[in-house]
Amino acid sequence: MPLYKEQGIVLRTMKLGEADRIVTVLTQGTGKIRAVAKGIRKTRSKFGARLDPFTHVDLLLYKGRELDIVTQADIITSFRELRGDYNRFTAGEMILEAADRVIEDREPNTRMFMLLLTSLRRLIDPSSDAGAVADSYLLRMTSLAGFRPALTACAECGKPDVARFSIQQGGMVCDNCRTGGTIRVAEGTVPYLTALLDGEPDLADLGARAEGSSLVRAYLEYHLNRPLRAWAYVPR
Ligand SMILES: [Zn+2]
Repeated sequence: MPLYKEQGIVLRTMKLGEADRIVTVLTQGTGKIRAVAKGIRKTRSKFGARLDPFTHVDLLLYKGRELDIVTQADIITSFRELRGDYNRFTAGEMILEAADRVIEDREPNTRMFMLLLTSLRRLIDPSSDAGAVADSYLLRMTSLAGFRPALTACAECGKPDVARFSIQQGGMVCDNCRTGGTIRVAEGTVPYLTALLDGEPDLADLGARAEGSSLVRAYLEYHLNRPLRAWAYVPR
């Protein structure tokens, strides 16, 4: 069996048999993989906590037919700070859930990997807001998947005079182009969404945050066709 090296972030683990686990890892070069960590649930396992969710690890793996096998794991960043902070941990869990649901197996996408890594780094920065980091991750990931919302001009005709958001039509739409269900958004919502994509959102505008955050979820669920259960548990 061929041996290969990768670095990645552990998204999820599940028990396998008596002593093993299957770990799901978003890697930099191979995309999302699933691999068996043998003996990891034994007390003296060489893996210890190296393959816990959130951990950024260097891996040595055997390529298997269906599942690969982890032979070596070394921590690059543990992100263990998340475990001591409920808000950050919950936001982090939602980020991992979204990555696991949306990203397909073995489709290499370095930008998707880097987005996850930088989002986890922002999440452990004490000056960041956990809910905003989570929403920013969701909107950027949806954009990377090919559905960047139109925010400053109409999604259909490009005219700049827009006041309504249409989930189905892909963002803000003008009165001529809008069809079916649209939402007249509050004044601060578009600046909030724009900042989630490209800058630092204004966290003081609570109405914009609440509306923006709900739109991000609905937009992702509609375009990527994946429910996000953990979204509701993130404190905002
Ligand atoms: Zn239009």
